Amino acid sequence: MAATTVVRGIDVLLTMDPNRGAGQWGRIDDGAVAMVGDRITWVGRSADAPPASVVVDGAGCVGLPGLVDCHTHAVWAGSRAVEFQRRLAGANYTDILMAGGGILSTVRATREASLEHLTELAAHRLGAMRDKGVTAVEIKSGYGLSPEAEERCLKAAKAAGTRAGVHVSTTFWGAHTVPEEFRGNRAGYVREVIEVQLPRLADIADAIDVYVDDGAFTVEEGRAILSAGRQRGLHVRIHAEQVAYTGAAEMAADLGARSADHLEQIDAAGIAAMARSGTLAVLLPGAMLYLRDPPPPVGAMRVAGIRMAVATDLNPGTSPVADLWACATLACVTMRLTVEEALCGITSAAADVLGLADRGRLRPGGAADFVLARPAIGEPPEPAVLLQHLGAPRLEALFVGGVRV
Ligand SMILES: [Zn+2]
Repeated sequence: MAATTVVRGIDVLLTMDPNRGAGQWGRIDDGAVAMVGDRITWVGRSADAPPASVVVDGAGCVGLPGLVDCHTHAVWAGSRAVEFQRRLAGANYTDILMAGGGILSTVRATREASLEHLTELAAHRLGAMRDKGVTAVEIKSGYGLSPEAEERCLKAAKAAGTRAGVHVSTTFWGAHTVPEEFRGNRAGYVREVIEVQLPRLADIADAIDVYVDDGAFTVEEGRAILSAGRQRGLHVRIHAEQVAYTGAAEMAADLGARSADHLEQIDAAGIAAMARSGTLAVLLPGAMLYLRDPPPPVGAMRVAGIRMAVATDLNPGTSPVADLWACATLACVTMRLTVEEALCGITSAAADVLGLADRGRLRPGGAADFVLARPAIGEPPEPAVLLQHLGAPRLEALFVGGVRV
């Protein structure tokens, strides 16, 4: 029989399962968790813990499932640091585009990069995330924008996950922006996405995404692309209502979208549509910070019963942020999420965005991805401490697939 590992004496264990422990985050004081192989086998109070061949002491710590980052663009090549400085000096987006910067500069660098180079870059990024307790990450394509380059990005995402020991979900995002060779012919590019890229890539992606906004794709184009993806069995996601209100979230909700992401400009109709369809909101405070955007209407979404996830949106331009803990803190400070909402947002809610039933929660049968976090020196082992201090806490222990790493 396989060995049983029990982590016990955990001051506060958050199962993120309201059926196991108190509140939405399933709080158990003096908790314990048992693992056999790569699965959780038992969760409860230390006094009731099963016998174990390996015992880990969780005293002074907060325990929670491996974190889930449900919105990243972690596959890219090139650098946007010069653009960052130009923006700080007052350059606007058009100036930067004219100087050859912006998204299209990342597209050029990504197209020139080999599969191996893209994999190596993404694996480094994922490795740094895993060191902070993130064990599942969604990665979108979207810096290739051609059938070959989009395929390379999706393959690099999967290979990087294997190399870094992180579960990766992939999202096809050919409809990120119109590439240079289709300039002035957006309709032609939408056709290419639907008729060439999607048939080629549907089998290596879990979801499809589209960027509907002022200066991006229209609601009608977004509907056509997402509908085509849904027909091929992909989960529907959308970048919506970030720069301007367009009705994109409502459209995606009507298509049964798993999530609508950003939402700074969402209106009452969009909120009602998301609530009706059970579409989750993915909040991206990194992008909000870098773009100096206003916060999304979290209060109205909460009242409507919309569940909220929080993600890094890791990308080289508008959210060069790889620290999911810091994003949870920013969601509290800038968007007024509660600590409980933010911690559910980087675990259970994020797992639901990706359809990962066995992650983001601690329950028997689930993946044995487990984080034992130690609060800053002098602080009590309380969940709020983990988010009050900006940036990832020190990890006392991290289990990925039941293996202590
Ligand atoms: Zn994004």
